[in-house]
Amino acid sequence: MLKHRRENKVVHVLHCWRCNSYSTPNRYQLKDGGAVCGLCGDKNPLGSLVRLPLILVTEPHIIYVAFTRSGKHAHGLHTDLKTALGPWVVFASGDVLERALVYLGMTPEQLEHHRDGMRRWGQGTSKLTIQPHRKNLLRIDYTKL
Ligand SMILES: [Zn+2]
Repeated sequence: MLKHRRENKVVHVLHCWRCNSYSTPNRYQLKDGGAVCGLCGDKNPLGSLVRLPLILVTEPHIIYVAFTRSGKHAHGLHTDLKTALGPWVVFASGDVLERALVYLGMTPEQLEHHRDGMRRWGQGTSKLTIQPHRKNLLRIDYTKL
């Protein structure tokens, strides 16, 4: 019960204007009238602080990643496979996208499926379990999760 209450708690999360990541209060620093991102080190205005349920930024999320052009263009999709969670993001190559997906938390099973789609068609939709406290490489809007 106590845990349940804690997870529903709404806190000030830093939505970094440079790296787009979401940081919990223990991962950013209030300094000189701004908030310093723990992931990229950039100082944000206090307007980058947004009130979000703590659980939203501390738990893994399953999303889908649609990709085209041999993995050079990708964007996040809700599990409903319709709602775009972020813009199309351009990657230097399919390998760079793959490294990004692994960094974000792609499991070995999900990676195997992703590589299969890349090899066969160079486009597709791959499942991804995003782990918390990562740079927001797909520029996901967490309020749409
Ligand atoms: Zn940042």
